[in-house]
Amino acid sequence: MLLFLPGPVCVADEVLAVASRPLIDHRGPEFAALLARIVEGCKPIFETSGAVLVLGSSGTGGLEAALTSLFSPGDHLLACPVGVFGERLVGIAQAFGCEVEVLPTAYGAALDPAALAMRLRADTQRRITGVLLTHSETSTGVQNDLAALAPCLREHGALTLVDSVSGLAASPMRMDEWGYDAVVSASQKALAAPPGVAMVALGARAVGKLKQTRCSRYYFDLRVALEFAEKAQTPWTPPISILCALDVALERYRQEGSLAAFARHARHAQMISEALVAMGFELFSQPGAHSVTVVAARPPQGVEVAPLLESLRQRYGVVLSGGQGPLSGKIVRMGTMGAIDERDVRDALAAIKAVLDTATP
Ligand SMILES: *Cc1c(COP(=O)(O)O)cnc(C)c1O
Repeated sequence: MLLFLPGPVCVADEVLAVASRPLIDHRGPEFAALLARIVEGCKPIFETSGAVLVLGSSGTGGLEAALTSLFSPGDHLLACPVGVFGERLVGIAQAFGCEVEVLPTAYGAALDPAALAMRLRADTQRRITGVLLTHSETSTGVQNDLAALAPCLREHGALTLVDSVSGLAASPMRMDEWGYDAVVSASQKALAAPPGVAMVALGARAVGKLKQTRCSRYYFDLRVALEFAEKAQTPWTPPISILCALDVALERYRQEGSLAAFARHARHAQMISEALVAMGFELFSQPGAHSVTVVAARPPQGVEVAPLLESLRQRYGVVLSGGQGPLSGKIVRMGTMGAIDERDVRDALAAIKAVLDTATP
């Protein structure tokens, strides 16, 4: 099967192989060395000198951990969703009693830096204590310009939490330079490892905030995670086999180089967008707002999404996603992440063309 999902993705055999090794003691020296390598491998990808905490969970657990560890019930948070994943952050914040204000953006568009700046400048009383952002919005194929959004956030001073689950490692994340406080990612996206590990990077301000916050939390308490991280351990039994795989995936990433990896994702996204448009699809994301990790597109007139995906899976072993939530049945989504090369992309696009040609007489 060729997975063109926006996670999980195709994982290299070399990475999968280490996950079947015998287990090790998670309180022993071998594990400490493994975790230290993973943390050191992640820091240059987040471009941070801050703390990187490794949690046994999917990306959503990482988001919940960061949110509950950085904020308190009653905190006034400005959420800036541009799709389903941004709305998930709203849901998490509300579930833990934060007061959430939504800065709305139409699906398909990126967050407008001027709109964010205007809202933040109007907050002269500094009621907004946190801002929730998405780097790459996987549900709409939209990428926010985190560099352009950064100045007004720094000027305001609210703590920032960024979902970069499908952004990290595929495009630049200059966490320290741009001044983001907490950035969350996961193993099963652009790093091309199996699912099961979330990474939460915290800057100095975020670390300082951990001890003052009052959201209910236990398993995902980053204060405890940070304490254990200092001795290269995790508080609870970690997914050791997945961490072994992530270690090798990070080494592969380091060998490729981040610039080459960014170029690869951009090239795949370009190939996919151009080919889909040539086949009569219409890109869902607006010009200038395209994500490099997932291409979202409306199918040509008269083509139903579900049968198209079904034929691709059954006849060609090519697995794409449909839309989520309100976009279900309206769009297809094709990921660019994972251990795939240009030939795989071309093969998948040829399969899409073949299915469309047989469906439309
Ligand atoms: C995949 C993804 C997540 C996390 O999803 P999990 O299934 O919990 O790993 C969160 N945000 C974005 C933008 C994603 O693409």
